[in-house]
Amino acid sequence: MICPICNNKEEIDGNIAKLYTVVVSDNKNESKNFEMRQCSECDIVYLNPMPKNEYLASFYEKGYHRVKESFLNETISRFNRKLAVSEIKKIKSDGKVLDIGCGRGMFLKSMQEAGYEVCGIEPSGDGSKIARDIAKLKISNCRLDEFECCDNSFDIVMLWHVLEHMSSPAESLEQIKKIIKPDGILIVEVPNFSSIESRFFNRYWQHLDVPRHMFFYNKKSLEKFLNLKGYEIIKVSTETYSCMILTPFKSYMLMFKGKNFLKKIFLICLFPAILILLFLKILPIVNFRSFIRIYAKPI
Ligand SMILES: [Zn+2]
Repeated sequence: MICPICNNKEEIDGNIAKLYTVVVSDNKNESKNFEMRQCSECDIVYLNPMPKNEYLASFYEKGYHRVKESFLNETISRFNRKLAVSEIKKIKSDGKVLDIGCGRGMFLKSMQEAGYEVCGIEPSGDGSKIARDIAKLKISNCRLDEFECCDNSFDIVMLWHVLEHMSSPAESLEQIKKIIKPDGILIVEVPNFSSIESRFFNRYWQHLDVPRHMFFYNKKSLEKFLNLKGYEIIKVSTETYSCMILTPFKSYMLMFKGKNFLKKIFLICLFPAILILLFLKILPIVNFRSFIRIYAKPI
């Protein structure tokens, strides 16, 4: 088997590269097994087999992009977006932004309010409609490989929790390199496969989200991948958002689905998990927080 990121030839007999198997039920209640394999050279974890687009489509049907989140979720998300935008401002204070896979356009809206000229790409009909009709944004309802624009068009290109959804991330990074300006930046944020949360919950980690997520990055694999595709890393950080106190709760629910007694016991154990996450947020333990954020520029 050849690594889809670094082209390393991996031996698959003897389970050398196999981490574990995740069982997924589709909307017809049919189960499918996906193995998660890790490249020993670059550390990337990927699904085997890679799900086909037709199979994936049902996992993005109605309900994936909600018109409105709950008040609590919306308030927490707005706070997190403001923090992220203020970080971006320090690196690139103005210019033209393209958000690839912008969903309902909420992040793009925050960028617009901060003075950037914004537009987005969203392949889902539901998501792009909400972004257009409610957030009043300029959105192209297509995939990145169908998006038409001139080379050197954007000061900032964002892949915000999107790269892990892409079945051909190498081609996507090559295409982005063409449409980004020579002094522009690419901002990528993905779940961190080497985070404490991921290590603790393993196959029950909420952010595995198989089969919508097909690649699982850590700091090493994401940096190496961007370098291989012709980007220079400007800044790397790992983040644990305030709302992440809810994540262990969701992962516990996955871990103990259908086992009511244990569920109650683990709810009681939730409090120390919250403390651990708050602790992680305060301490500069850079590589182990829930998400990796990388700022890079084309070489
Ligand atoms: Zn590799």
